[in-house]
Amino acid sequence: MPIKVKNPIVEMDGDEMARVIWHMIKEKLITPFLDLDIRYFDLGIKRRDETDDRITVEAAEAIKETGIGVKCATITPNAARVKEYGLKQQWKSPNGTIRSILDGTVFRKPIIMKNIPPAVRFWKKPIVIGRHAYGDIYKCAEFVVEGPGTAELVFTPASGGEKKVVKVHDFSGKGVAMGMHNTESSIRSFAKACINYAIGEKIDLWFGAKDTISKQYHGFFRDVFGEEAEKAKEKFDSAGVKYRYLLIDDAVAQVVKSEGGMLWACMNYDGDVMSDMVATGFGSLGLMTSVLVSPDGKYEFEAAHGTVVRHYYEHLKGNPTSTNPVASIFAWTGALAKRGEIDNTLDVVRFARTLEEAVIAAVEGGVMTKDLMLIAEPKVSKFARTEEFIDAVAERLKQRPGK
Ligand code: NAP
Ligand code: MG
Repeated sequence: MPIKVKNPIVEMDGDEMARVIWHMIKEKLITPFLDLDIRYFDLGIKRRDETDDRITVEAAEAIKETGIGVKCATITPNAARVKEYGLKQQWKSPNGTIRSILDGTVFRKPIIMKNIPPAVRFWKKPIVIGRHAYGDIYKCAEFVVEGPGTAELVFTPASGGEKKVVKVHDFSGKGVAMGMHNTESSIRSFAKACINYAIGEKIDLWFGAKDTISKQYHGFFRDVFGEEAEKAKEKFDSAGVKYRYLLIDDAVAQVVKSEGGMLWACMNYDGDVMSDMVATGFGSLGLMTSVLVSPDGKYEFEAAHGTVVRHYYEHLKGNPTSTNPVASIFAWTGALAKRGEIDNTLDVVRFARTLEEAVIAAVEGGVMTKDLMLIAEPKVSKFARTEEFIDAVAERLKQRPGK
């Protein structure tokens, strides 16, 4: 008897190799076991192009309505992709569109397996990155300065008061200039999301910025974050966890020397860069999960990696592939567990946990894709193809009680 999932989940399909493994996962690990109302949105590049990208906005609106979404990796087109797929234009990043509609914080957490030792030997527990997903260089205005002249930053108050003008630089020749922004409300909700996550998971919260150099911009982040942490002091104390502010360069050094087990809150760019560093440090992009949490408690789960395009071209040539589906499976289990938690349906939560255990049991039992085989300790003699790995997980799932 399939397990009944009370409320719907928004499923967003994607592109290339990620799409291929997505369909295998759904067919072999999800639909046979669950009676699930799926709201399906095809965010594959062709469908986005046909709908002038309205499909992405509709999917984000559906997450707002149902509360839970699960997303496959998608192509963010550049000029080469426009040509490759004959697109009408360079559509925006679907993740960027969804983030700006839900206004959230992205948390990235590595999956740890006993036989996949991290590259940094001190790391024992997950390092979770909380990335502020709004503003800074991701919503900047910039240009190339063609020759001598002055660049200024100008603010015009809506109330009609006096303009504020700050000189950026007197150029004596060619150069570049950029203006960027953030908002107090977005920073505050970023801080709150990180505080809730850290207290919920009972892990310390670190926040790093460069306030020694950027006294106003980064200083503003430090102050707003600090105020929110101060307001939550009692909750921190009763959860037995601490808040720490560090200079970003010190944070990097301390994180590498630590045994892990903290939430590292990062400004947008730092989070983008550091999550790749942490993912690689823990073994493979194929083991990094990602969840977008909105201030009003909506969740969107996905794998942190992209569409794994090199593997897809091999797949198109008819060659076997060994693409790691673990993070995509954990996107589903994350969504299902959260759905069950919100709906108060414990059998759904239990199914999600059982599926995660089946994945870990497969890898720890020596069945793994090539990316993991290269770093496994003890060594394994052969790697599983993508489908073989998913079949091995399905077998272990069927054997488990409580599925
Ligand atoms: P990527 O798809 O993450 O792949 C980068 C490399 O990492 C792969 O070539 C592969 O290395 C390895 N890798 C990543 N995931 C893996 C997995 N599950 N199993 C095994 N190896 C894995 O990043 P990309 O090549 O920069 O981007 C490709 C496309 O994905 C782009 O169009 C980009 O826009 C899109 N993208 C989407 C998202 C998203 O939707 N969230 C995120 C990032 C990128 P080897 O080739 O060495 O095996
Ligand atoms: Mg990145």
